Amino acid sequence: MYDIIIIGAGMAGMTAALYALRTDKSVLLLEAETVGGQIANSPRVENYPTIEAIGGSELANRLFEQVLSLGAEFELERVQKVEKLAEKHFVVTTDYGTHECKAVIVAAGARHRPLGLAREEELVGKGVSYCAVCDGPFFKGEEVALIGGANSALQYALALSSYCTKVHMLVMLDYLMGEDALIRAVKNTPNVEIYMQTVCEEFMGEDSLSAVRIKNADGEKILPVKGAFVAIGQMPDNEAYTNLADLNPWGYFDSGEDCTTKTAGFYVAGDCRSKRVRQLTTAAADGASAAIAACNYLLQE
Ligand SMILES: Cc1cc2nc3c(=O)[nH]c(=O)nc-3n(C[C@H](O)[C@H](O)[C@H](O)COP(=O)(O)OP(=O)(O)OC[C@H]3O[C@@H](n4cnc5c(N)ncnc54)[C@H](O)[C@@H]3O)c2cc1C
Repeated sequence: MYDIIIIGAGMAGMTAALYALRTDKSVLLLEAETVGGQIANSPRVENYPTIEAIGGSELANRLFEQVLSLGAEFELERVQKVEKLAEKHFVVTTDYGTHECKAVIVAAGARHRPLGLAREEELVGKGVSYCAVCDGPFFKGEEVALIGGANSALQYALALSSYCTKVHMLVMLDYLMGEDALIRAVKNTPNVEIYMQTVCEEFMGEDSLSAVRIKNADGEKILPVKGAFVAIGQMPDNEAYTNLADLNPWGYFDSGEDCTTKTAGFYVAGDCRSKRVRQLTTAAADGASAAIAACNYLLQE
């Protein structure tokens, strides 16, 4: 039986592993998709203390190597449910089987939020994407649409503008909502055209995307693009754990800075919990808090 099972190998989960391993706890880290979580898809991080600039995947890989070198066990498995059988006895069920442990930390982050347009799901992988880092290079030398106006969209605009001929950035609000430096950089990039108070109403095309229909105060317009990137924020995926923790109305774990839940031995960390600021630094802080709370729980009689 493991001391602690951590669900999610993003910044929060891996930082939790780091803290737990340094107090000699046995740790199993379970990840459903990509080591590093969201940041693995970020081209450049410039706000992580002590590191001036680094690619998101490199940052994630460095942390992953650090936790493996401390003795973390890692499995690429998606967690489906967690049950508490007794104090210091949890069963974690994944798509491959079950694991047992004394305490659990959920650091499952958040996933992309879809626009909710009629043919969106059907055209994913055929022109519609949520990850400019993963799919942007398929549109080298082409014009693309980018939907969103906050930090992720701003980062995507810069990345896409370096190899796409033009980025049509569709922003629903009348302002950009992100770091000043990023906003300045995007505004100074000549091949990014920003359309304020503009919504994307339709993804068009037969077998693949050929255009997007947009709408603003000037009326409707069709932009002929083969690629459209949706960057309108994230949403949590916490429904599987409602037997052990409460969720707020938006689906985030209802937990404060101490990362505790209504269930002793069951902790939550990072973007998956209710908080004001969702960043690497706050995810790392949560990872530390959750791991320390879990270690204290293991010490209790
Ligand atoms: C494009 C982009 C750029 C960003 N840039 C910056 C930046 O420059 N600076 C900054 O500070 N922040 C940035 N952020 C925000 C930052 O990435 C997040 O705040 C941070 O990654 C949150 O970490 P986390 O560990 O809580 O969650 P996540 O990174 O979301 O990791 C959660 C992990 O859990 C896994 N998981 C989920 N469900 C399960 C399951 N059932 N079983 C197993 N595994 C599961 C997921 O696959 C994922 O790998 C950016 C985000 C994006 C999307």
